[in-house]
Amino acid sequence: MKIHEYQAKEILMRHGVPIPRFEIVTTPADARKAAEDIGRMVVVKAQVHVGGRGKAGGVKLAKTADEAEAHASNILGMDIKGLTVEKIMISDAVDIDREYYIGMIVDRQTKKPVYMVSEAGGIDIEQVANETPEKIHKLAINPVKGLSAADASTLAAKIESRPEVAAKVAEFITKLYDGFIGSDASLAEINPLVVTPDGEVWAVDAKMNIDDNALYRHPDIAEMRDPAGETDEVRKAREMGLSYVKLDGNVGCLVNGAGLAMTTMDVIQHYGGAPANFLDIGGSSSPDKVVTALEIITSDPNVRSILINIFGGITRCDDVARGLVQALEQTSIEIPIVVRLTGTNEDEARKILAKHQFVSATTMDEAVEKAVELAKQPA
Ligand code: GDP
Ligand code: MN
Repeated sequence: MKIHEYQAKEILMRHGVPIPRFEIVTTPADARKAAEDIGRMVVVKAQVHVGGRGKAGGVKLAKTADEAEAHASNILGMDIKGLTVEKIMISDAVDIDREYYIGMIVDRQTKKPVYMVSEAGGIDIEQVANETPEKIHKLAINPVKGLSAADASTLAAKIESRPEVAAKVAEFITKLYDGFIGSDASLAEINPLVVTPDGEVWAVDAKMNIDDNALYRHPDIAEMRDPAGETDEVRKAREMGLSYVKLDGNVGCLVNGAGLAMTTMDVIQHYGGAPANFLDIGGSSSPDKVVTALEIITSDPNVRSILINIFGGITRCDDVARGLVQALEQTSIEIPIVVRLTGTNEDEARKILAKHQFVSATTMDEAVEKAVELAKQPA
């Protein structure tokens, strides 16, 4: 789950990471008040789930409360990469001497949390990663032993040569690690970590993703979910207990079980097609779930055929069949639907479906070939 900058800062503050004082507001008038409260130069920052806000005009410095109010009225309602800005942060602006990058991810290759640090922080870190990757230093951390003081010092020394400042950076690195582990994050990024001319260190920006499977351990973080950060389809799928990921192809997929869904996508590719989505309706599937799944699939304008691949175990084929019929009664779906149902109650399912216009198939290969072929037909 993605969370906003202000939410990441709230979490990290609890772990002692130094965060400049901030307030969250939704109106220009409140932006003015917040700037007056802070009483110094502030930075006005869009709170949206995308990077590169600065470049998009979503981060502005304001010397006075008047300026803060003016920036707030520009930024509120602004569209940044398809997301509308509804909340802004008014943050105490810090003086910048240096901008570093500090990030942590769970790395699949090493199967460990990996720290990444760079002295070339700021808004162009992607460019640094592409053009001069040697400027990014990595260290895999043993998750059982945790981050040692030596690890933290080694990392800090890669980016900061002054011993007193390096000690503060090392302390920062330790606290960020605690925040990352303590909240079951899959990513935590501070870009920039600012060193002021006086040698203080601050997390000026913060980005965190939290492992969805660990949210049950963090009810406070689970509440941070912002529905505005999800597309309607993803939200609908999540609320119905479906796993849905949109992809770029044109064969819509409705499958039960993550493994079968992955396999179905592979077989589609094998037959020269491209899946429009991953969609797992889960183990026990009510007709409602199937209706919702079809609504989600058909709302994607790229979809040219729909492939329903059900291996009935706990999922009953007749339930899926009823859902299909119900969905077709509620909305007229023009897109051809290929159905392969096998397993629990398959005979009953066939009877339910017989009255309707489905392309039926008995094997997975046959079903996929048909769906791929139909997706190639002109609309
Ligand atoms: P991003 O563009 O979404 O990564 O937003 P950031 O919060 O990283 O801000 C982008 C840039 O704005 C930073 O790299 C800084 O150069 C500048 N900036 C952000 N906050 C401050 C601040 O408190 N003081 C100063 N002087 N500049 C800031
Ligand atoms: Mn940033």
